[in-house]
Amino acid sequence: MARIGFVGLGNMGGPMARNLLKAGHEVAGFDLVPAALEALAAAGGTAAASAAEAARGAEFVITMLPAGRHVRDAWLGAGGMAAAASPDAVLIDCSTIDVATAREVAGAAGRPMLDAPVSGGTMGAEAATLTFMVGGPEEAYARATPILSAMGRTLVHCGAAGAGQVAKACNNMMLAANMIVTAEAFVMAERLGLTHEALFEVVSKSSGQSWALTTYCPVPGPVPTSPANRDYRPGFATALMAKDLGLAQEAAATAGAATPIGAEALALYRRFLEAGNGDVDFSGIIRMIRGS
Ligand code: NAD
Repeated sequence: MARIGFVGLGNMGGPMARNLLKAGHEVAGFDLVPAALEALAAAGGTAAASAAEAARGAEFVITMLPAGRHVRDAWLGAGGMAAAASPDAVLIDCSTIDVATAREVAGAAGRPMLDAPVSGGTMGAEAATLTFMVGGPEEAYARATPILSAMGRTLVHCGAAGAGQVAKACNNMMLAANMIVTAEAFVMAERLGLTHEALFEVVSKSSGQSWALTTYCPVPGPVPTSPANRDYRPGFATALMAKDLGLAQEAAATAGAATPIGAEALALYRRFLEAGNGDVDFSGIIRMIRGS
């Protein structure tokens, strides 16, 4: 069993750290919020006094923080965790951040480092069924596999540093575009007299099919577990989708990749966000499309 340092014990990091404890690992954690530290201690972990203290002596050090600036500060800033970690520790950042910062931090850490963003949301974090998309050295990935497997079900090694963040940005850009066009199709069908059920029945068995339709259907009824059936409570909050679409556009711009549909998806999600819907599930954008 491994000694693990874990920094960022929020909605995702909290349950992920608890799953490491359940798998029998030792976890020393740190968060700025005292209640998050108390929850870790109650689950059998150790509350550290700082990020550097959590990292010291650990074989694996994990961060699950809001954005790139937090990740850079935590690893490389004053009292940084990279320097506190032992030279053979594997460093793993599971946050969703911009590709450039992921590459910069991995390059400057002086230890083997993986970017390992996740999909699966808070439910996946609780159930240890996350998908990890991982960038970084093969050897570090091999060592980290049992640790990531205690928090997730599917691991994909995508390539060198930053490749995990590229995969995440591409996935969420596709998801957003699929959701928007699925919502547009339902609203169009409503206006033209086709029932939700009829449209779902046809498209779920036809070539317009997608996860946005068959798992996360934006109208209530056809998929009883989708957030549309509980007034669009997340699920996956619009604020997080807008963040991820911004990261995708940044990555595309630095690579000179044309992503006009991704850009339009970002513009639509920003408009929905700015109308006060940050906490609403991202499938709720159908309300804006419908004009209600
Ligand atoms: P969160 O805000 O619930 O948790 C972040 C935690 O980091 C907070 O508890 C905060 O106090 C802590 N923190 C911030 N700065 C810190 C510092 N310097 N030192 C120690 N702790 C610090 O966010 P979350 O929903 O857990 O998301 C974390 C990451 O996971 C984000 O990058 C997000 O985009 C990504 N993500 C979230 C979801 C989701 O459904 N929530 C899904 C996939 C990916």
